[in-house]
Amino acid sequence: MYWKRRFFENIVGTSETPHTMEISRSHGAFIYNEKGEAYLDFLSGFNVSNIGHSNPKIIEAIQNQAQHYLHTTVYGEHIQSPQIRLAQSLSNMLPESLGSCYFLSTGSEAIDAAIKLSRSYTNRSEILVCKNAYHGSTIGAESLRSDYSARNVFYPLLPGIKFIEYGNEEDLNKISIHTSAVIMECFQAEAGVRIASDAYFIKLREKCNRSDVLLIFDEIQTGMGRTGRLFAFQHTSIKPDILLLGKALGAGLPLAAVVSSSKILSSFQSNPVLAYITTFGGNPLCCAAGFAALSLILEQNLCAQAVKNETFIMKSLKHPMIKEIRGKGNFLGVELHHHINPREVIRQCYEQKLILDGFLFDDRSIRIMPPLDIAENDLRKGLEIFKSVLSSCE
Ligand code: PLP
Repeated sequence: MYWKRRFFENIVGTSETPHTMEISRSHGAFIYNEKGEAYLDFLSGFNVSNIGHSNPKIIEAIQNQAQHYLHTTVYGEHIQSPQIRLAQSLSNMLPESLGSCYFLSTGSEAIDAAIKLSRSYTNRSEILVCKNAYHGSTIGAESLRSDYSARNVFYPLLPGIKFIEYGNEEDLNKISIHTSAVIMECFQAEAGVRIASDAYFIKLREKCNRSDVLLIFDEIQTGMGRTGRLFAFQHTSIKPDILLLGKALGAGLPLAAVVSSSKILSSFQSNPVLAYITTFGGNPLCCAAGFAALSLILEQNLCAQAVKNETFIMKSLKHPMIKEIRGKGNFLGVELHHHINPREVIRQCYEQKLILDGFLFDDRSIRIMPPLDIAENDLRKGLEIFKSVLSSCE
């Protein structure tokens, strides 16, 4: 009660009705409230805790690094082995053209940095983005958001932003020699999990190549094994020029990255000099956690595990109230039939200690995105709660 009162007095939540679950600890797929009651987290802290909450290997890596050094100077000036280890490990898993990293702290910052990078590298200003995409809340990232009601309050936003429809091949004709970059979630998350066809991606790549336009994939939600591959673009026949990572990259600590070739990223060094400076980008604690997390995903083969979980969920989640399940791996959106209110389902599941949520731009669907290494029994238990709530809402 004390903390709840202080929360309302001293903290500003993100809405007028914040969730206000009081946290005492978290572990694996569970978050514990102030009474020590366990809640099963089918959101993975919104795709941050891909390897579960407070994974002991991550804690150990953070503790080890903390004994050596924390912050020493702004990013990119000192040689810090945790950054290099993580960058090298990412580069081992990516095509040669995505061999260099520029580290930042948040996804929105990675988006802003990518906008600056593409404008400085191409010397063009137009940026194409998809409708119903969420790329973050800084003023740059906000400018990429298509829904008028949320963005008009902040006008004027960045000029030069044009919208296309995700998956619509006709719209790709808007890519031209005036375009600097196409910034796109490879698989759309907040639109309720949408995955375009491979034919679309091939045409997208061709159009970008033809006009020397940079293709930037925002994999801030889909990266780090979430979709059953380390990166969602690996499900397609194409690769981006720039890959943006965040969320699960730091396994619970704030870390994001712009990944590209050293040729493209060198614009940050020279055009102009100090084009993007950030005090905490690539913080050694965060990079140590990120390296430990990536090692764990690879050693424990968690991409394959995500595929297994997908099969299990698809098989178990049969219910007359479900219209459709979309997605891959542990990146799934469940669309309900029209007479059921997803908000009510989410509320009732929470009462039964299962944490679920919806999407920003799809009010008919519920996200199912548990940690990749969730135990099968816990996955089954959560799905049973979900189905029993759906039955009670019939
Ligand atoms: N891009 C995508 C696809 C996201 O889902 C988010 C956050 O949810 C962001 C960017 C912004 O990341 P952050 O909240 O770390 O700024």
